[in-house]
Amino acid sequence: MFCNQCEQAEDGKGCTGIGLCGKDEDVQGLQETLLYGLKGMAAYAHHARRLGRTDEAVNAFMEEALFATMTNVNFDVPSLLDLALQCGKHNLKVMEMLDEAHVARFGRPRVTQVAVGTRPQPGILVSGHDLLDLANLLEQVEGTDVLVYTHGEMLPGHMYPALGDHPNLAGHFGGAWQLQRKEFDSFGGAILVTTNCIQEARDSYRDRMFSTRVTAIPGATRLAGDDFSAVIARAKALGPLPQRDFGRIPVGFHHDVVLGAAPALLEAVKAGQLTHVFLIGGCDGHEPGRNYFSEYARLTPPSTFVLTLGCGKFRIMDHDYGTLLGLPRLLDMGQCNNAYSAIKVAAGLAQALGCGVNDLPLTIVLSWFEQKAVAVLLSLLHLGVKNIAVGPNPPAFLTPNLFKVLQDAYGLKLTGEDPKADLAAALA
Ligand code: SF4
Ligand code: SF4
Repeated sequence: MFCNQCEQAEDGKGCTGIGLCGKDEDVQGLQETLLYGLKGMAAYAHHARRLGRTDEAVNAFMEEALFATMTNVNFDVPSLLDLALQCGKHNLKVMEMLDEAHVARFGRPRVTQVAVGTRPQPGILVSGHDLLDLANLLEQVEGTDVLVYTHGEMLPGHMYPALGDHPNLAGHFGGAWQLQRKEFDSFGGAILVTTNCIQEARDSYRDRMFSTRVTAIPGATRLAGDDFSAVIARAKALGPLPQRDFGRIPVGFHHDVVLGAAPALLEAVKAGQLTHVFLIGGCDGHEPGRNYFSEYARLTPPSTFVLTLGCGKFRIMDHDYGTLLGLPRLLDMGQCNNAYSAIKVAAGLAQALGCGVNDLPLTIVLSWFEQKAVAVLLSLLHLGVKNIAVGPNPPAFLTPNLFKVLQDAYGLKLTGEDPKADLAAALA
């Protein structure tokens, strides 16, 4: 463990092993789990607040939970574990608020095909997760020849009619966050980053990069408000982008859309045409071990659906999975906060089949990277969802003792080395 949050920090640097206050590594690990879950929830709550939604119980919990991580307040593993699960409960509420706010503001999601590439007009690439920034930018470029493209986790913006049908939203460019240096470099136009995950910029595009509010990159321009005139002026000065056509991506399998097909899905389950549903997605990252997720997805049988979300989708979407029951077998539910959609679908199917979520032929294989994924995992554990596999690496803040506690209570496990064997075990 390492902790340096109070004056007693060992040697003026930090406590390791066991704290001078008496805190051990399991207590420290749970306090960190709670802190990281809170950070993820705070990001979602920030988006929801910008769209006019807050919840007093959530706000009160955040204060209480932060308080519990202070020096000499709580040394008790069970109560800290309970707070971590409560964080999951409140994060579920926040994801619900955000989902409702997106639908209320931008319209009911529908399935649509998104063009990937650029057109020979000035362009702005919008990255991150803040759909309100995207909407404000579209409003400000309306009537000009400046086209806007989504990048990374902004892709699901196209599923909302008020964004996707906007004449200046021309398509999508780029994949998961870890590829952005190459992609921002080659895009050629202005770049607006609204949230994580951004990387330190290359000099080649730093002077055409803008960020909003808390998001900031040295040498790029940080915009504190909603006025995007500087971004638009930069895009115009940079001139037309090349014509590039990289095909189309289907988006929009929001829970409303998937549950709209529930009667047909249930009939197919009874007839043996639909045998299993996988949720494979979450955050993407650099590590070679992440090929596990793409290999796992490719091995899924034709009688199964693969739900995906977050930027983990980009790793598995460059494969033709075919169709099932007239739907693509790979269904993109949206951003990482649209884990709420996956939860709604699982709960809806379980209710219709008269069973619990853990009795469904459902396997969750979660790739994680940062703190929003921690918040989502805590939400799934709060709901009692069992046998989730996370990877490619175990969370460093979960000690072996804590991981065992979660393993015993929820069957939480790590992704393995062999996707074929893990898939066979899931189907068995
Ligand atoms: S809170 Fe405890 S473990 Fe942390 S620095 Fe202070 S004495 Fe050390
Ligand atoms: S899904 Fe996770 S890793 Fe990917 S951009 Fe969103 S927060 Fe970052």
